[in-house]
Amino acid sequence: MTALAENLARVEEAIAAACRRASRTRAEIELMAVSKTYPAETVAEAAALGLTLFGENRVQEFAGKASRAEELWAELVVRRPRVHLIGHLQSNKAAKAAEIFDGVDSLDSLRIAERLNEAAARLGKRLPVLIEVKLSKEETKAGIDPESAEAAQLLERLPDLDHLEAQGLMTIAPWGAPEAETRACFRSLRAWRDRWAQAHTRLNLVVLSMGMSGDFPLAIEEGATRIRIGTALFGKRAPYAGPPE
Ligand SMILES: *Cc1c(COP(=O)(O)O)cnc(C)c1O
Repeated sequence: MTALAENLARVEEAIAAACRRASRTRAEIELMAVSKTYPAETVAEAAALGLTLFGENRVQEFAGKASRAEELWAELVVRRPRVHLIGHLQSNKAAKAAEIFDGVDSLDSLRIAERLNEAAARLGKRLPVLIEVKLSKEETKAGIDPESAEAAQLLERLPDLDHLEAQGLMTIAPWGAPEAETRACFRSLRAWRDRWAQAHTRLNLVVLSMGMSGDFPLAIEEGATRIRIGTALFGKRAPYAGPPE
């Protein structure tokens, strides 16, 4: 067995254990393999092991490896996997993102939503999106403040952007926080989802993308439907060495 196959088996065991604790089934949870910084060959190896959804956090980086990945998938994989953007998107890269990704899980402003919608319309595409919600007080720029006027506007407008297909919410828990705080963050995302789903009946908010290598069992216990796993599958990442975004 390769290291990747062993890591995948270990992750699957941990997913199964969390599902048992939470009385959930494995089929309720989608495993996203976060392949940022890893080459197209690694993405292809993972796809050949049966992984069907990948996460990349930089438009530029995936643009550079997409064609090689497509080549390898055509050789190795029965069904082409999907690749979603999970990192912050700048509006000048919205058109490229709409072109190369199968979904954007890090939508964090109305402006970006409008740009993506226009780009997807030009491509004749309907792009699945998740709204990224900022729930920790950490000074990161990722996600939209759920209590902001901007969030309200985005939720209001999104159902009318015909080339975007809202599917749910995404969040990143505070890094290295104690378990109680991490759980509170996941619970909070679920509560916002319930509240918004009730208030915006035209929006589909089924997907809850939460949980990474360090905290995915907790996320599953708190209702995650998609977990995003990088390190636990591919090993420790080298520092990013590409162009700045
Ligand atoms: C890198 C990244 C992950 C994966 O993190 P790991 O700790 O390596 O599993 C998940 N989500 C987002 C948004 C990321 O940028």
